[in-house]
Amino acid sequence: MVAIDQVLEKLSTVIDPDLKKDIVSMGMIKDLELNDGNLKFTLELTTPACPFNVEIEDDVRKVIAELSDLKAFDLNVTAKVMEGRSLEADTQMATVKNIIGVASGKGGVGKSTVSLNLALALSQTGAKVGLLDADIYGPSIPLMLGMEDGSMEVEDNKLQPADVNGLKVVSFGFFADQSKQAAIYRGPIISGILKQFLVDTNWSELDYLIVDLPPGTGDIPLTLAQTIPITGILVITTPQDVASNVAVKAVSMFEKLNVPIIGVIENMSHFVCPKCDDKHYIFGNGGAKKISEQFKIPFLGEIPLNYGIMSGSDSGKPIMSTNTDSPSAEAFRASAKNVAAQCSIIASNLQEEMESESGDSESSNEDSTNNGTS
Ligand code: ADP
Repeated sequence: MVAIDQVLEKLSTVIDPDLKKDIVSMGMIKDLELNDGNLKFTLELTTPACPFNVEIEDDVRKVIAELSDLKAFDLNVTAKVMEGRSLEADTQMATVKNIIGVASGKGGVGKSTVSLNLALALSQTGAKVGLLDADIYGPSIPLMLGMEDGSMEVEDNKLQPADVNGLKVVSFGFFADQSKQAAIYRGPIISGILKQFLVDTNWSELDYLIVDLPPGTGDIPLTLAQTIPITGILVITTPQDVASNVAVKAVSMFEKLNVPIIGVIENMSHFVCPKCDDKHYIFGNGGAKKISEQFKIPFLGEIPLNYGIMSGSDSGKPIMSTNTDSPSAEAFRASAKNVAAQCSIIASNLQEEMESESGDSESSNEDSTNNGTS
């Protein structure tokens, strides 16, 4: 009769293609029961948006099928998002597992459009997602969600985010009077506003908080990088040199601040002709790929230039909510999966670092105890 050791041995040959580690050592096998040849367990993926979830499940079924003497096999697949930031180092936002800052070198590259549609795509996989519109000089998320008249409630001294399309949303645009003044705000005031939005909001449990930053390398991106531990920065650019050359400056700044770069997405990458289905590279080709190669950061996707994306944003009906079968929505979904996968990689590296640090401190404690007794 088959034994648990044999089951685990088989399962440890299944490798998560992103994390490059086997699923047993990653702790993805839960609630394993083996009774009289009846096998049952849960496969817990690191994110519901895992690009390889079907592949990993298929591999698990394949290796289990190789075991002889098994009477029945019951597999349950779930996902629990890993923490891509040190929650120990951030008691103020301890319920938010990942914070993703979305940055661009210059305005108008579609950073807010991509932030919103990525947030929706992640949420549609079952993840709990928040969206903080921190572009305080030009908050566009309320317009893109059709909620110009939105306002924020305060309860127990905490901002209550609006609940829209399954997302928890906070935007400076909800403070209509103040947002008209924003152009005159500078330095410490700006940093204070961002800190309040981050820390004094009742985000509740979130797997991913997407922070739509203002373009460039000003006070808000700096404050985000320096105030709380974040999972990393996602860079949005268009293919033209004028956009990708300034995006490089943003990447350099975050690298200097030791903030991980999650990767780069190219927006308005190409136009698909509705008559011939050919891709036309109207703005040139390969701007984001160049950045990805230059900085050795992952290239996470390309979003087409598409009328539906534009009209969806401008009419408050994002394409990820209204036209989920379109090729544009598919492009957002693919990019969102890649973003989630990179967050899992950052989380897995962080976990390893923390384990080796705690191992180091345990052995140095032992050393000091030994020294004390000798
Ligand atoms: P940013 O946040 O970088 O300033 P926005 O997200 O506000 O840019 O987008 C600028 C304009 O470009 C908006 O009108 C938006 O609808 C449009 N837009 C963004 N991405 C696309 C796209 N992939 N295809 C067509 N229009 C787009």
